[in-house]
Amino acid sequence: MQETKSTCPYCGVGCGVVIQHDGRHITGVRGDPDHPANFGRLCTKGTNLHLTATPVVLQHQRLHVPLKRAARGEAPAAISWDQANREIADRLLAIRAQHGPEAIGVYISGQLLTEDYTAFNKLARAVIGTPHIDSNSRLCMSSAVVGYKQSLGADAPPCSYEDIELADCLLVSGANPAWAHPILFRRLEAARAAKPGHKLIVIDPRRTETAELADLHLQIRAGTDVALCHGLLNAVIQRGWAAGDFIAAHTEGFEAVQALVRDWSPARAAEVCGVAEADIWQAAEWFATSPRSLSLYCMGLNQSSAGTAKNTALINLHLATGQIGRPGAGPFSLTGQPNAMGGRESGGMATLLPGHRDPAKAEDWAEISTLWGAPDLPGQRGHTAVEMFEAAAHGEIKALWIVCTNPAQSMPDQAMVRAALERCELVVLQESFAHTATARYADYLLPAATWGEKEGTVTNSERRISRVRPAVPAPGEARADWRIARDIAALIDGGLGRAPRLAADSAEALWLEHREATRGRDLDITGLTWAVLEADGPQQWPYAQGATQGTPRLYTDGRFATNNGRARFIARPYLPTAEATDANRPFALTTGRLRDQWHGMSRSGAVPGLFAHEGRPLVRLHPADAGTLADGTLVRVRSARGALVLPLKRDPNLAPATADIAMHWGDEFVGAQQGVNAVTHGAACPDSRQPELKFAAVAITPA
Ligand code: SF4
Repeated sequence: MQETKSTCPYCGVGCGVVIQHDGRHITGVRGDPDHPANFGRLCTKGTNLHLTATPVVLQHQRLHVPLKRAARGEAPAAISWDQANREIADRLLAIRAQHGPEAIGVYISGQLLTEDYTAFNKLARAVIGTPHIDSNSRLCMSSAVVGYKQSLGADAPPCSYEDIELADCLLVSGANPAWAHPILFRRLEAARAAKPGHKLIVIDPRRTETAELADLHLQIRAGTDVALCHGLLNAVIQRGWAAGDFIAAHTEGFEAVQALVRDWSPARAAEVCGVAEADIWQAAEWFATSPRSLSLYCMGLNQSSAGTAKNTALINLHLATGQIGRPGAGPFSLTGQPNAMGGRESGGMATLLPGHRDPAKAEDWAEISTLWGAPDLPGQRGHTAVEMFEAAAHGEIKALWIVCTNPAQSMPDQAMVRAALERCELVVLQESFAHTATARYADYLLPAATWGEKEGTVTNSERRISRVRPAVPAPGEARADWRIARDIAALIDGGLGRAPRLAADSAEALWLEHREATRGRDLDITGLTWAVLEADGPQQWPYAQGATQGTPRLYTDGRFATNNGRARFIARPYLPTAEATDANRPFALTTGRLRDQWHGMSRSGAVPGLFAHEGRPLVRLHPADAGTLADGTLVRVRSARGALVLPLKRDPNLAPATADIAMHWGDEFVGAQQGVNAVTHGAACPDSRQPELKFAAVAITPA
């Protein structure tokens, strides 16, 4: 048996794994005891990783060769890589010539490696010339990106996982790490056991397993997070718990926020949020007066039409109490995907450029033009995820190249997304798994290598860069994602009569290009090499030239990444959700993860044992709302966009008037229906463009 160290491909905790194999097949997996994210521990998903690469899965669930559909609706047939690359390049060139490069969109994934991101970013912006490249990370953490930039000046989570152990008070808001980030939750449990007097506050409309552990659970009405943060800040100011010296020395804008929250007494916030006023006073006291307070937050804040306002309102609390820039203190956003962070760093998104540069700044485009040797970059931001599919639905975008993601299942407002895919002249899907919902719409399916077969790097939630290493060859003719991009890019460049702009011949060469884009930036990693990662293990950025170790914590000197070094209080009013419940649609539908499943289940769904925790899609409803309907009764869940029929589950852990459906189930599990995104909507935060997957107004009636 051989062993190869790599990283878990599921969540943003980024646990180190040791792949056991015989050089041809993966036979087992264990946690890497040397990895500082998990110290050898793995959750159920990680422990079962090898079962996603069994010979049966490889044979029946993976794509092996390039496939082409002669016509939509027909079964695809095998073609050679040469033919697929040539035909795709020719068709993209033809669309580009007839409609302009903006008629092409590239939709990628937070599960790609940083090297793949770098390749696709160049392919879209420098080779095709389209501004329209975005990632499914838009659905995951773009509100956290904008929140950090607005408040602290850079998209840089300032904390480390060890802060979970160091904090005296932990505020978990809109997150359920017990299921979504299980290894961090184990660290949280251990920290509480080891520290008498530790306080855990959880803000969530659902009484989750995380909330079960809390000293105080604020079970707010879905979507009222900003009102709660304003009420907490009001209490902090009223009781004199604000850190006046810190505010004066290191921040700006406090007066405007003070004026804004003056109207948000804990009594008013309690009424709007549906919680007890005394609980708001208590939470404010624990958070402000504990020596070290840390917040952990995730999709409950991010997936919202007020996503950025929710993030900045929480960061306001940290700034007002001086709970930042110290061990055990700070606002710590958790990433859902294994490399959402790497995508942010390499700028493979419509609203970002490499090295945390800004597409709104001409000088940032100029720097990337120089780095890439491409004088004709688009020069403006492109369509974000929902916008890209809307543009395709309207006929503005004619071709979509989709990589390592399944928008026909995972995007909100699925009827619109599927109509967009049908209307496109060309859909290219680059995937490892053969049977996703999006595969049915693809004109070309390109087989991609995946976990255990490819190499590169990922960055986890605490800014730690880890190596991903290949243990076995990819099945059939599957290739690394960056290589597929490079080969078609070369044909497009050739068709345009110029030298290849994406010419890297290895993942490491692409990583070095990415590294150069960080020089002098807040995330500078010019002191890091793959040899250092080999010798010293995973490292946290920044790691500038001359450094001998990474950086566990940011802003420890009280200087923030803004122009004047001061963090900014952001005064944003509480706004209601994009949709409101009413007499016709009285339930607030929220979505979330199951403990043992991952995204659209293309990988985790291959492991029968992972269905033991929950084996079928359900809609959960508070018993008071379910009335006399028994568990298992089929009910119709109907929104303004669509409907689906699911078995009911009575669940006293939900707030009244709230319904909950797990995000994972798609067509193959819900029959001819489309999973929860048949009823969700694409209304998004105006700043981050992240859609509001946590709130849709629905009716629920017996089917
Ligand atoms: Fe993988 Fe996340 Fe589980 Fe760690 S916590 S083993 S990264 S799924």
